Amino acid sequence: MSQTNSKYQFHKAVVENELIEALGPEKVSTSFIDKEVYSRDIIVPWTCPLPEGDCKPPEADFVVWPETTEEVSEVIKIANTRKVPVIPECGGAQGGGSTLPIFGGVVIDVKALNKIINIDTDNHTVTTQPGLICDELESTLNNVGYTMNHLPQSQHVSGIGGFLSARSAGVISTKYGKITEMVQGMEVVLPNGEVMRTKAVPNSVAGPNFNYLFMGAEGTLGVITEATLRIRPFRRRESFYLFCFPTSPLL
Ligand SMILES: Cc1cc2nc3c(=O)[nH]c(=O)nc-3n(C[C@H](O)[C@H](O)[C@H](O)COP(=O)(O)OP(=O)(O)OC[C@H]3O[C@@H](n4cnc5c(N)ncnc54)[C@H](O)[C@@H]3O)c2cc1C
Repeated sequence: MSQTNSKYQFHKAVVENELIEALGPEKVSTSFIDKEVYSRDIIVPWTCPLPEGDCKPPEADFVVWPETTEEVSEVIKIANTRKVPVIPECGGAQGGGSTLPIFGGVVIDVKALNKIINIDTDNHTVTTQPGLICDELESTLNNVGYTMNHLPQSQHVSGIGGFLSARSAGVISTKYGKITEMVQGMEVVLPNGEVMRTKAVPNSVAGPNFNYLFMGAEGTLGVITEATLRIRPFRRRESFYLFCFPTSPLL
């Protein structure tokens, strides 16, 4: 096995030691099977999209499972110092190659960041970590009388971090809005390892809305480690109707 990454020339053993020191050995893997699993995509077969003709299939150098924002920050500080590519991954269901480590590097699986931090029934918000699978969040909310009404088909496998990073829509988003319209605030670890928080408020007229910088960025501008989202009272029974007009393209 080569000692350095082929494109970025970081020394793998040095980076591995630093990751283990930051997270502990059980949260860092360089095993063949973990790297294989995190170097594949659920949809797109590997077809050599790189113009320079490097047709080797993608291969992660490291897979890590941080459990706190501080641990994500430590990983990114190491990656920034050693110039190691970073690929955040949540449910891994986006397809389209967005989680493929095409230049190697460290895959940060955020699924261990899977806690609900707070359900605020006064302000109708939930604050959650990004690795929570959408369906689990929705069930927990339903059990206490609330809903997010964000119901994409992949709700059983995809997580909040992935949904925010890919600006997802669900089956009733025409009524309740896409996930982007539910976000009030976020915590993000920036590419230099600093932690940034946007204020969780229903709306603001003061300057740009920085939440939109990270939503849809597909992990390129930072790792989302927390989000505060709008919730509504849950009705056990709802009816939906679709009206078609004579000129509707569905007819
Ligand atoms: C059967 C099926 C049905 C689907 N139905 C829908 C649908 O109805 N609506 C819809 O919108 N999509 C749908 N999708 C697509 C997919 O579920 C969405 O793109 C979803 O947003 C991906 O979330 P994930 O947790 O699987 O993320 P991943 O695939 O792991 O990641 C998606 C992107 O987000 C980045 N990312 C992940 N976590 C973070 C984080 N914490 N911080 C920063 N970046 C991060 C990744 O690097 C990647 O670029 C479907 C997919 C499948 C396979």
